[in-house]
Amino acid sequence: MTSIITGVVIASRDHKETDRFYTVYSRERGKIRILAKGTRKFKSKLAAHMTPFTELQIMIAHGKMWPKLASVERQIDFRCIREDLTLYGLGLGLNELLYRAIGDQEPDDKLYDFLIDAYSWIQTLPELESQRLQFVHSALTLKWLVMIGFGPHCDACVSCHKAHTEVSDPHVTVSHGGLVCHVCVVERRLQFADARRISSETLAALRFLATAPFESLLTEELDPILELLIDIQDEFIHYHLERDLRVPVFLDQLVASNRETST
Ligand SMILES: [Zn+2]
Repeated sequence: MTSIITGVVIASRDHKETDRFYTVYSRERGKIRILAKGTRKFKSKLAAHMTPFTELQIMIAHGKMWPKLASVERQIDFRCIREDLTLYGLGLGLNELLYRAIGDQEPDDKLYDFLIDAYSWIQTLPELESQRLQFVHSALTLKWLVMIGFGPHCDACVSCHKAHTEVSDPHVTVSHGGLVCHVCVVERRLQFADARRISSETLAALRFLATAPFESLLTEELDPILELLIDIQDEFIHYHLERDLRVPVFLDQLVASNRETST
């Protein structure tokens, strides 16, 4: 029995002498691991198509242990991402999230569309200075957290539910998931020990960024609070993902080496 799925390769690893496992995030089946026989042999045609940042149509044969790769056709090729180290880092960040933080075989049309949209946007990016690059990376990750239900809740105080429009001295608490008003912070100092005061502009930015189109991550109006936003976003990301993701480290190194070469 065979079936056809549409998806992208998010990871791969060698298996035995000539085989390889591909982890594919697909529209129809979510994350799925596919065994490709003989793909490490010289000039394997199948392997040549199984590159990351390409939307693929894959025919799989259902084996006893693993679905096996039967044939593959390229659909959309996000080639620029593969060819530019910075863009590659951003794309890899999204793949890594899917690889590590999403369960197997849990299809999600919205998440799949988000991934393809993000690839399309990433490949149009101009050269970014290092702080903006860090911001884009953490904002994309946060958008992804919002999509799976772990984003900051900033419409109302997480404790007393007072609407954000009525919160005059806003704070943000990562451990309780979003906005908390000054009154609640004072009343429950212990519970909200991690709360930090933010300006209404920062609150507005956090609310806006969660659902704003990708292009808005480049707007200059965010410049004065960019560093703070990176900080808050990263706190949320680390709190929810709990695991050490390798990609942020990779990006940090990239940023550091850019700094070294520019000084
Ligand atoms: Zn409150």
